[in-house]
Amino acid sequence: MERTLSIIKPDAVAKGVIGKILDRFESNGLTIAATKKLQLSRKEAETFYAVHSERPFFNDLVDFMISGPVVVSVLTGEDAMKKNRDLMGATNPKEAAAGTIRADFAENIDANAVHGSDSLENAAVEIAFFFAEKEIS
Ligand code: ATP
Ligand code: MG
Repeated sequence: MERTLSIIKPDAVAKGVIGKILDRFESNGLTIAATKKLQLSRKEAETFYAVHSERPFFNDLVDFMISGPVVVSVLTGEDAMKKNRDLMGATNPKEAAAGTIRADFAENIDANAVHGSDSLENAAVEIAFFFAEKEIS
């Protein structure tokens, strides 16, 4: 049983598709082991995406991630990390396969609807960033 972290980004929250995106997870064998809606501070967003701090798009990424509330969730299930990445689709929604979350709900590479952990190591760090162990079931 794996764990991974999902974030429904501000664009998708603003569009009112939280429920539709969470349904994708549950309909594809993932369990929502924890979930909450919150507003990231600039410092939190910078820390969360610190791995991208040298990239040219870093400031735009942080600005976008704090532009409105997000929904963070712990997803569990067999192969949860890769399964979530597959459900999300490619980073650029124009390249995302039909039927993926980004193909269906994202506008562009900046506002791309969802985040998902990209390794089990990062998943553990990202989950601990948002949730206490007793909040996950
Ligand atoms: P995420 O980490 O949000 O799940 P990802 O793992 O598919 O997305 P990353 O390479 O980790 O993609 O990039 C993190 C985020 O930074 C992307 O979701 C996207 O919003 C933004 N980003 C990535 N590459 C670019 C780019 N070339 N131009 C603009 N924004 C980008
Ligand atoms: Mg990433």
